[in-house]
Amino acid sequence: MAEPEPVVGSGLVDPQGRHLTYLRLGITERCDLHCAYCNVAGATSDGREELPLADLRTLGVAFARRLGFHKLRLTGGEPLMRSDLPEIVRAMRDEAGFPRIALTTNGRLLARRVRALAAAGVQQVNISLDTLCAGAYREVRGADALDDVLRGIDAALAAGLARVKVNVVLLRSVGFSEFDSFLAWGAGRPIELRFIELMPIDGLDEFHRREHVSSEPLIDRILDGGFVPQESEPDAGPAVVYARSGDPLRVGFVSAITKPFCERCNRLRVTPRGALKLCLFGRGFVDLRPFLAQGPEAVADVVRRAIVDREDGFRSIGRPVGCEADRGMRGIGG
Ligand code: SAM
Repeated sequence: MAEPEPVVGSGLVDPQGRHLTYLRLGITERCDLHCAYCNVAGATSDGREELPLADLRTLGVAFARRLGFHKLRLTGGEPLMRSDLPEIVRAMRDEAGFPRIALTTNGRLLARRVRALAAAGVQQVNISLDTLCAGAYREVRGADALDDVLRGIDAALAAGLARVKVNVVLLRSVGFSEFDSFLAWGAGRPIELRFIELMPIDGLDEFHRREHVSSEPLIDRILDGGFVPQESEPDAGPAVVYARSGDPLRVGFVSAITKPFCERCNRLRVTPRGALKLCLFGRGFVDLRPFLAQGPEAVADVVRRAIVDREDGFRSIGRPVGCEADRGMRGIGG
């Protein structure tokens, strides 16, 4: 392959004037955990839905080189289930040319693989935790893996990644009540602890009704604890972030339900089955698979045409998230 030209451009602009520069790419629906909020009936996978490396490369080149996207997140399902993950990352860095590559993982297999992933080009990891109690972890995440995940977080810090974020989905019965324990655990660690409001998912209405809780009371508590809001960085994600002096810990809140941030949304998603999803809360998608064999320009062209229909999202917040026969968050690429 010829030496790739550098990534230029500032992404796409949608009908609401939002600059789209961030691709969240689901690379598998497989997962080694069985989280209560992801457990949509029938949404299991043997990996047959996965796009091969060559197709992922075509998508990467389309988004980075043709459309000017400059941030990529690999997610799923559990991206570490793919043994070719380092090759995928390398292709996204060297051939697609993404300047920023992040990974969202449950962290269970991270300790033994994070150095190779960092060497391949991963700069940031988001590790999902949800609870610090082994019993609650087993109940919510469906496996006895808390110690492995904590080791994964330490290994990510030791690997010198630019950013390590720890995602806690706020569940009334678990993370919400453990808020002070999380702050005590995070104190002194150079991480960002991010509390994420539970989103409604098709097929999990009862769970959502029981467990959804607003992040607002926690924000009040953190302000009382001496944390102050931080300036958001250019190209920042949806989290509102707080820090206190003398502590590298940052605490973020992603209040997607109680404080939607649609007007700042800079992302598009491609699901593990190759569907372009214009809005997490929107129900529509465009199947990119028929265009992959035609190469990056054909894919880029479909995306350019699709975003003309991108809605503002506000209308659908609070309605259950769904896509492609309701395969839960793993089918979307959370
Ligand atoms: N397997 C990886 C992991 O566990 O982080 C990546 C995929 S997972 C679907 C991505 C993120 O979405 C995780 O942080 C998970 O906790 C979050 N998530 C899944 N379902 C959610 C929901 N209904 N509401 C909010 N976050 C959710």
